[in-house]
Amino acid sequence: MSTDDTHISEFHWLIDMVQTIEVGIVVLDKNYNIKLWNSFMENHSGVSPNDLKDKNLFEEFPDLEANWLKQKMESVFLLRNRSFISWEQRPFVFKFKNFRPITGRAEHMYQNVTLQPLMSLTGEVSHISLIIYDVTDIAVGKLQLNSANKILERLSQTDELTQLHNRRHWQQCMEIEFERFNRYDSPASLVMLDIDHFKKINDQFGHQTGDIVIQRIAHLLNQSLRETDCAGRYGGEEFGVVLAGTDSADAICFTERLRKKIEALEFNIEGESFNVTISLGICDLDESIKDSLMWVSQADKALYRAKLNGRNRSVIYRKSAEKHLH
Ligand code: GH3
Ligand code: MG
Ligand code: MG
Repeated sequence: MSTDDTHISEFHWLIDMVQTIEVGIVVLDKNYNIKLWNSFMENHSGVSPNDLKDKNLFEEFPDLEANWLKQKMESVFLLRNRSFISWEQRPFVFKFKNFRPITGRAEHMYQNVTLQPLMSLTGEVSHISLIIYDVTDIAVGKLQLNSANKILERLSQTDELTQLHNRRHWQQCMEIEFERFNRYDSPASLVMLDIDHFKKINDQFGHQTGDIVIQRIAHLLNQSLRETDCAGRYGGEEFGVVLAGTDSADAICFTERLRKKIEALEFNIEGESFNVTISLGICDLDESIKDSLMWVSQADKALYRAKLNGRNRSVIYRKSAEKHLH
């Protein structure tokens, strides 16, 4: 075999490999005319290379995002650098159906695409190649993992019975709110609320009824909130609420409205009718409150006072009132 023959046969092997490889390969000239369209591209697009030879890519595939892709390719021509398009940035460049049985849930093929400048013998970049990788399995796996993680994250932050924030997550939110309002010196109030004589409800009607009462009160509370408020289940039948941008005068309007709503609510559970009341303690932020623990503790003291004063009421924390507590 002569050297020339060797070159030619090596060239054939290369072409064979380009054709059979499970990766899409497209070569375009500077005018985006198609010079090479391998069998991966043929199989997935349904269009054969013979029908595409020397035709303009964007005329043949009007679904392509022409402006965006041209801009990418222009910069490859200009900078003579490779460029990479990830599926996370854009799920696909060519809209191909996904045929893979395992990842049947994805409608289209997710793709990573490399744009590579092709140098001629004279050193000028006259062509560009697009290498298209099918990353559907990876993408679907990652998307499923992300959505599973989101569900897990939500579960780990949510109280199962009431669907409010659980104590740990609520405390985190409350600390963040404390820092924020403290820094910007904007008003915010913390409300602690507790159901009155709840032991009696459990004793009289059973724990399951007790659970339903907790659930309904949490639901009513949740309905009374604005987007920026943050409520959580602090303990058994005790809840904490951060009211954003709310001073104590506004906070007591909120708590009184909620208190009256609950007082007026008639529970009918398993043939038993009864009413329930709640007590609420309020503490609005001021510069004397050093940290979030102190904020909770003062709202708790106000709640304690509401209980002492006869329950079914709202009390605003006052430092002077503390002296008479003990
Ligand atoms: P007070 O007016 O002073 O608050 O009286 P109380 O009886 O409500 O007293 P306290 O708040 O200390 O009682 C809480 C009771 O709530 C104790 C516990 O048995 C009950 N409890 C706590 N968590 C749950 C729960 O998830 N479900 C039910 N059914 N009961 C709970
Ligand atoms: Mg109670
Ligand atoms: Mg309690």
